[in-house]
Amino acid sequence: MHETRRRRAFFLDRDGTINKQVGYCGDPAKIELLPDAAKAIRRINEMGLLAIVVTNQSAVARGLVTEDQVRRVNAEVALQVARAAGGKLDAFYYCPHHPLEGKAPYRRECDCRKPGGGMLKQAAAEFAIDLSRSFMVGDADIDHEAAKSAHERIITFELPSDYSMGRADYRAGSLFEAVERALGLASGFGA
Ligand SMILES: [Mg+2]
Ligand SMILES: [Zn+2]
Repeated sequence: MHETRRRRAFFLDRDGTINKQVGYCGDPAKIELLPDAAKAIRRINEMGLLAIVVTNQSAVARGLVTEDQVRRVNAEVALQVARAAGGKLDAFYYCPHHPLEGKAPYRRECDCRKPGGGMLKQAAAEFAIDLSRSFMVGDADIDHEAAKSAHERIITFELPSDYSMGRADYRAGSLFEAVERALGLASGFGA
């Protein structure tokens, strides 16, 4: 019987982490990557970790953006990452819900909306990810909380923003810095 080797992942928030924060955004033309974000994702690829985006998009529930627009913006982010550095995002998960705003079917309590861990757990099931050896980076406390909700041993990095109070395991000045530090830690406990 063969042992199935589960993979490690680097989970990434999207807005304010990979691309500049642009509010509720349904327009791919507004997407602008943060400095060295594409290079950081390429580094994740080179180290053999999955690069998986987990993003709250309550603009859908609020009726400001359609799911199709969310997918087009995601595709634009992926395209820019590929063009800028040859980086590859392995998957995007988004939560279109809000517990209080908007209408059914989007107005509801869900586990996918960060700080819930649902998107990470879904990715773990679909990609056979070992969450206990994975990482999360985001610019908000809810990114850290979502990771710890999915698995307490996910190592979290927080980027400076108005949404972060420094609750994550580590703070970093940029996505690239977070990835470099994470990969240094990763080599310490087995690839
Ligand atoms: Mg963010
Ligand atoms: Zn949701």
